[in-house]
Amino acid sequence: MLIDAHCHLASNQELAQLQIKQQIKAIINCQTPEEWQINSKLTMHMQPLSFGIHPWDVNKLKFEEIVPYLKLADAVGEIGLDSVWTKNDMALQTKTFRKQLAWAAKKQKPVILHTKGCEKEILAIIRQYPNNYFVHWYDCRKYQKDYIDLDCYFSICLDIIDNPAVIKLAQSVPLDHLLIETDGLNSVEWLLNKPVSVTDYSGILKQTLTALAHLRHIDSNKLATILGKNLIHFLGQAK
Ligand SMILES: [Zn+2]
Repeated sequence: MLIDAHCHLASNQELAQLQIKQQIKAIINCQTPEEWQINSKLTMHMQPLSFGIHPWDVNKLKFEEIVPYLKLADAVGEIGLDSVWTKNDMALQTKTFRKQLAWAAKKQKPVILHTKGCEKEILAIIRQYPNNYFVHWYDCRKYQKDYIDLDCYFSICLDIIDNPAVIKLAQSVPLDHLLIETDGLNSVEWLLNKPVSVTDYSGILKQTLTALAHLRHIDSNKLATILGKNLIHFLGQAK
């Protein structure tokens, strides 16, 4: 079984159908109420959905208006701070992030983190809200051990192939806290700097899985089973 621990569908029906057909368990990210409605339909309620105010969207949504969606979501996210790809006010980003973290910790909903450029700050903040965290696409060389010591899960992207920070991370995270993700086809296009189609999707996940298996000296089928279990554990759905 393949997993995609963090994926933006970007309204791509073909991708949603392929995931279901190939039994790829994917946490589908939703960052607006509109996207929630679209993704609920596209996934036919067969995939876990995450919902949260992305640091890029803190000017567009208020915490109070997203609470109904947080209640329905399987995970809160992706949420976090970003000092690299957005100029959004850091005080507003932090306030929005903390409100969502506090809510998630109280309701014991797992959280998916976006940490770009704010790895140190987020580490200090999440210590105040003990919860089940998964750090998405972490590509910072620093603080890796600190996050690992907090029992965070990490999802590894296709850049495991040539990003030294990601390789270092993929070597150090305990096997039972590893996940893989695509972040959606748009992110893969950005990463590879070339067009990517739905037909490439499972190949991208398999390539990521194979690279990770190679790095950890483990059979890729065995690793796929472990990753599937990890995703279920992260979501708190283990029975
Ligand atoms: Zn994302």
